[in-house]
Amino acid sequence: MNIQDIKQDWISQFEKPLVITGPCSAESEKQVMDIAERLDKEYMQVFRAGIWKPRTKPGSFEGVGAIGLNWLKKVKDEYKIPIATEIANASHAKLALEFDVDYLWIGARSTVNPFTVQEIAEALRDTDKIVLVKNPVNPDLDLWIGALERLAAQGIKKLGVIHRGFSSHNKSKYRNNPQWQIALELKDRFPNIPLICDPSHITGRRDLIQEVAQQAFNLEYNGLMVETHCNPDEAWSDAKQQITPEELKKILVDITLRKKND
Ligand code: PEP
Ligand code: MN
Repeated sequence: MNIQDIKQDWISQFEKPLVITGPCSAESEKQVMDIAERLDKEYMQVFRAGIWKPRTKPGSFEGVGAIGLNWLKKVKDEYKIPIATEIANASHAKLALEFDVDYLWIGARSTVNPFTVQEIAEALRDTDKIVLVKNPVNPDLDLWIGALERLAAQGIKKLGVIHRGFSSHNKSKYRNNPQWQIALELKDRFPNIPLICDPSHITGRRDLIQEVAQQAFNLEYNGLMVETHCNPDEAWSDAKQQITPEELKKILVDITLRKKND
């Protein structure tokens, strides 16, 4: 199958833009359950948490590992919300399928590696789960599209992309420069592939999340992935960019209203 043949229909079931939210990292069963409880399920339809965390430098917290799948499953069972996690190799992919994780995403540090994407694609062959591909850390549109092609070639039909910005040596106000034109070119070439914006990893700062989310919304992205935590400052990873579930709700209400008033 080619990526041109992918259908948008998995996302059209949502009346509002799709919002995937939850902590950068799962830290404990209680932490994920507490966050899930506080989400307004009318606005936030999918729960995310990273359990395998590819970190830039060694010595940082690299995730709780497979035990976190049990916690995610509990979130799904008790709150009836679909769950999402990052997979970075074939064994993560197989475990996530075993635990019936609904949304699997490939992180920016994995999308850059064609062998990694290929082994993940083969492990997920013909899956009915939704697979989201974050842009690679470097601003290379072909590499991003190549990852989609590898997944489509393995019969994976429910695909989407997440725009999380691009690394740059030059410091700007953003942690990862959005370079909107790259994501918009992908949207133009493949209007059938749902496009989700990740303002948390673009900005790296909670005070900028609203403006980036608004921009994505105005550009008619199909959804958002935003990191939330009950005590953002205490988060074990990406503390500066996380917000509370209530802060996210306020942002979502505000950006919807502003768009309507345009
Ligand atoms: C994440 O979503 O927590 C993450 C590590 O993202 P990225 O791959 O965009 O850096
Ligand atoms: Mn993160």
